[in-house]
Amino acid sequence: MELFKYTAHQLHEKLVSKEISAVELTQSVLDRVDAVEKDVHAYITQTREGALAQAQIVDDKISQGQAISTLAGIPGALKDNMCTNGVTTTCASQILKGFVPPYNATVVEKLIENDTVVIGKANMDEFAMGGSTENSGFFPTSNPWDLEKVPGGSSGGSAAAVAAGEAIWSLGSDTGGSIRQPAAYCGLVGMKPTYGRVSRYGLVAYASSLDQIGPITRDVTDCAHVLNIICGHDAKDSTSINAGVPDYTKSLVNNVKGLKIGLPREYFASGMDPEVERAINKAIEQLVSLGAEYKEISMPHTEYALSAYYMIAPAEASSNLARYDGVSFGQRVEGTDIVDMYKKTRSAFLGAEVKRRIMLGTYALSAGYHDAYYLKALKVRTLVKQDFDKAFDNVDVIITPTAPTTAFKIGEKSNNPLAMYLQDVCTIPVNLAGVPAVSIPCGFAGGMPIGLQIIAKPLAEETLIRTAYTFEQNNNYHKGFAPLEVK
Ligand code: GLN
Repeated sequence: MELFKYTAHQLHEKLVSKEISAVELTQSVLDRVDAVEKDVHAYITQTREGALAQAQIVDDKISQGQAISTLAGIPGALKDNMCTNGVTTTCASQILKGFVPPYNATVVEKLIENDTVVIGKANMDEFAMGGSTENSGFFPTSNPWDLEKVPGGSSGGSAAAVAAGEAIWSLGSDTGGSIRQPAAYCGLVGMKPTYGRVSRYGLVAYASSLDQIGPITRDVTDCAHVLNIICGHDAKDSTSINAGVPDYTKSLVNNVKGLKIGLPREYFASGMDPEVERAINKAIEQLVSLGAEYKEISMPHTEYALSAYYMIAPAEASSNLARYDGVSFGQRVEGTDIVDMYKKTRSAFLGAEVKRRIMLGTYALSAGYHDAYYLKALKVRTLVKQDFDKAFDNVDVIITPTAPTTAFKIGEKSNNPLAMYLQDVCTIPVNLAGVPAVSIPCGFAGGMPIGLQIIAKPLAEETLIRTAYTFEQNNNYHKGFAPLEVK
């Protein structure tokens, strides 16, 4: 039985009914890693022994008749920017090569409390800067649907692992689209929860006012189960929202009657693949046939969101990344004095895109330009947020494509940062506004998956789950498995 092909909730049933053991399941996923990892390159670090030991603990609990959590014994992957006690955490950067955190991120603690099995730390764009995982300081990851294409990014390893059967579920982080866009490119469900819904404690910061951790899964039910575990207030994160966490599985309801959908015309800008646009329109028609109402809306500041993001995110990054100077973390190149050591270390171990962002951010924050660039971008951010506030006065959800195209070829955009940045045009406004959004599979173009983005009000993840679940239950897009040949 190819256990690695099932969803987490199906496997949970098999575990509690003792049809399979957690060790057997973990071994099936590890065997799959052995078979396909040489082609996919999803993992920077594998934690095989820990995974099998954890699976054994779950088996012991089951044989003793103890109740287990829905994710107990189910193998997953973590993006390599979440701190794991005793396990190398690199952010796919050479500067953090060999860095072993002395503590766990809050999400990791929560996963441990739920006895989940972790197969390893997934590849990503260096410090989560990028949209293809080609900016990894180690190696690029391939898309399991077509190995010559990118899996998206920056959580490309997390998405590729799930699509290839090298993990059943994973966690990514999303600053401008890095969960949703790779989920879309790999035919998966990826949610960026409301800013502050999931603790950022122990998530290596890229742009602190935008970063958010979320699940990448094979279906909406698994998404709800992972959310149940990772959401919630954390006193260790001052931006964490102090609000109760509902049981998201209660929103797995196949019903959108009366749901008001807004379709913002600004998101269907030039550069969009007509097949993507067709798939989105078809999805809307279907939701309407299931009882939803739809209307066109206008979000006039959308066109400025991308530029504002590429001021704000690099500005925050330039400050956050100042700590990687060869003193406290990771690698160092010795110099003639301390300044020379800083320069040599940062020059040797940070990648081109990271350096570009640090320079851009430092410039935008410098005394002479702060008001013209950074402050202006913050004002635009407020206008973008107001567009969402106004839209949600009239609609329950906003639907857009997740990305303007399907996955592109490795190397196709790596020498053109602007073309790469444009892949995030539909996802970035959501981070600027702090609202939640999910990407779900809604079709194929040229054999590659297309993603549909559903956006809701702050803390309305339940509405996202209900809408996404209804769409999923009336289609089969989530059932296809990437046609990855084992050589
Ligand atoms: N691609 C965007 C960027 O490069 C978003 C990255 C992210 O969400 N981490 O900044």
